[in-house]
Amino acid sequence: MTFSGTEHARSLWFLTVPLTSIMLLPPREGTAWSVGAIAIACALMFQAGSLEGAHAYSSVFIVRYTILALMTTGVLCWSEVLLERYQIQLQNQNNALKAERDHLETEIVQRAALEEELRYLATTDSLTGLLNRRAFMAALAGELTRSQRLNTPLTVLMIDIDHFKQINDSLGHPAGDAVLVHLSHLLQEHLRSIDKLGRIGGEEFAIMLVDTPADAAEIVVGRLLDAIRSRPAEHPENHRPIPFTASIGCTQRHLDDDELTSLSRADRALYAAKQDGRNRSHWI
Ligand code: GH3
Ligand code: MG
Ligand code: MG
Repeated sequence: MTFSGTEHARSLWFLTVPLTSIMLLPPREGTAWSVGAIAIACALMFQAGSLEGAHAYSSVFIVRYTILALMTTGVLCWSEVLLERYQIQLQNQNNALKAERDHLETEIVQRAALEEELRYLATTDSLTGLLNRRAFMAALAGELTRSQRLNTPLTVLMIDIDHFKQINDSLGHPAGDAVLVHLSHLLQEHLRSIDKLGRIGGEEFAIMLVDTPADAAEIVVGRLLDAIRSRPAEHPENHRPIPFTASIGCTQRHLDDDELTSLSRADRALYAAKQDGRNRSHWI
């Protein structure tokens, strides 16, 4: 640079220092390197006149050169600082968006679980885990439509524990609950997975035997009554057996039945079974 001829063109190469140092290094370090390089360039230019064979730089050239180099450094440094800030801002926005997306995803999962829980609570009896009355009636309506369209048989049963009030009164409400849970398990054991079982009242259960004609249903009902008679429930505290019986009202679906007419016929059959002496079934 000191020997850059009369045009002093070589000194212009020093202007690449701010460009490269600020572009390649972090803004503050790059600026320090650049300012250092400018200072060295100034020193060399001031000294050039005293060296033999070299042409002195005019002070106007040195001042303009220095101002130009410092301005280039300043502008580059500022643009790098702005770029850095913009990148940090962008990164923060990205992080916030990601956090928001994670939050939304968690909320969607939670809402789906809540919806499922609400659906379960709305259709399930809390004591036995069976279908509640509303869910059983909806299932019966659907099954009646299907069996009427396909002309398949369907048997509806209504089961009521005999003298259940006495069990509650003599052994306590928790014992009564244990009998209800025991009966729900026992009924489930004897049914196929396609049949539907619900608890439609305090100690009343209803069953839909799908695709089942009366003769086959009669065998199932006989087995249910036998199982109830031979397998007593267990007292939840003293674990003593609690023998109990139940009565069952039975009916086949009619051509023009809906869920209310078929269930009320099963209810009438149940009433008749109670009138006949309980611990038995009755068909209408
Ligand atoms: P019947 O042989 O004529 O059916 O007589 P019952 O005593 O079984 O019938 P009743 O309708 O007189 O009594 C039913 C009792 O069931 C009365 C009620 O307190 C009791 N009950 C209803 N829901 C529950 C329940 O969830 N748990 C318990 N432990 N008892 C219940
Ligand atoms: Mg009863
Ligand atoms: Mg009853």
